[in-house]
Amino acid sequence: MGTQNVPSSLVQFAIADKLINIGRANSLWPLTFGIACCAIEMMATGCARFDMSRFGAEVFRPSPRQSDVMIVAGTITKKMMPGIKTLYDQMPEPKWVMALGNCAISGGPFAFEGQYSIVLGADEFLPVDVYVPGCPPRPEALLQGIIELEHLVSDWKRWENPEIA
Ligand code: SF4
Repeated sequence: MGTQNVPSSLVQFAIADKLINIGRANSLWPLTFGIACCAIEMMATGCARFDMSRFGAEVFRPSPRQSDVMIVAGTITKKMMPGIKTLYDQMPEPKWVMALGNCAISGGPFAFEGQYSIVLGADEFLPVDVYVPGCPPRPEALLQGIIELEHLVSDWKRWENPEIA
């Protein structure tokens, strides 16, 4: 089998892509936004005790136009859903979504028969990238979720194991 020459310009773009994604992964800017009790844990994660800045994700932005991560922290009511979707739509690309807590994952303790006001998970209307379970999840769990998101953004697992598609 003959050898194939890959154009050097393609190699350069591939390396630039990796570098840009490493930069993105290590400087996530979450949207300052919480909808129920899980948001208290998110606030605690931002405090000095847990030192979120170790992972480059401590710059919570007050505007969706300056954010690249939406942490859906809390119970999603049907009344709130259009507002959350509008915030997501206003975030520039590329952007990622984390579902924090059982309510944001599946409706949590409110997902019982006959309930009429709760959305059964953020993935009903948003493309969720990382799920962090718990009621509420501890700040350490949110930090673990951020690390998982960083691996996803930087494609780190694929570097470690090229067999992964
Ligand atoms: S998962 Fe539990 S702590 Fe989080 S918003 Fe729902 S009820 Fe509150």
